[in-house]
Amino acid sequence: MTPQLNARGDVAVLVPAAGAGLRLGPGGPKALRLLAGEPLLVHAIRRVAAAPSVRMIVVAAPKAEVEAVRDLLAPVAPVTVVAGGAERQESVSLALAAVPEEIGIVLVHDAARALTPPQLIESVAAAVRSGHPAVIPALPVVDTIKEVGPSPSGELVLGTVDRSVLRSVQTPQGFRHDVLAAAHATAADAHTDDAGLVEKAGLPVTCVPGSELAMKITRPLDLVLAEALLHVT
Ligand code: C5P
Repeated sequence: MTPQLNARGDVAVLVPAAGAGLRLGPGGPKALRLLAGEPLLVHAIRRVAAAPSVRMIVVAAPKAEVEAVRDLLAPVAPVTVVAGGAERQESVSLALAAVPEEIGIVLVHDAARALTPPQLIESVAAAVRSGHPAVIPALPVVDTIKEVGPSPSGELVLGTVDRSVLRSVQTPQGFRHDVLAAAHATAADAHTDDAGLVEKAGLPVTCVPGSELAMKITRPLDLVLAEALLHVT
């Protein structure tokens, strides 16, 4: 039986997965890469659906794949699948257009962060609910970071960056519905992430502690780690 989302939840989660070349099958892009026999998108949606505040999930799929993605996700959770746009930002805007006004909090999530625990989705949503217009999960940077420049014999270190003021940023990024809608309505730079659009609008973006489990699964090593972590989240 398909699990139901919470009809009293106040959160919509948008998952842009409309990148060019999305195919259901092997050799496709990140969102459909298999982890323990299931596409990353399926793992991601299952965890989003398990977060108690989530009332609606909207996935943006390539126009030609809307039906196929709907069929793929139907057994996992009740999901609205819309056709995406030419750029990620347009896909987010099209997904946002499917969210009714009465849902006050909108999260934008990355399918490649397939093991993101429902608790992280809840903590981002809770921070927005408590009054922050925009919230991102962030982790301290663990490696020493050097600034480099080109030199004839390779790269030359120019200096050591103070990593105490640096953060690695994850998803879901959370927003008050009206804040995300306004940021997208006035967006000029297609390559800025959603929190970046809000920053440019001059609004504060607040960090909450991220989770190691919300890592982006992109490299072959990540898939090995993710398989080992599958039972943790
Ligand atoms: O291609 P890129 O790595 O920037 O894509 C990041 C995410 O945005 C991917 O999940 C991809 O499916 C999504 N995307 C989208 N619509 C596009 C381009 C990318 O939803 N037109």
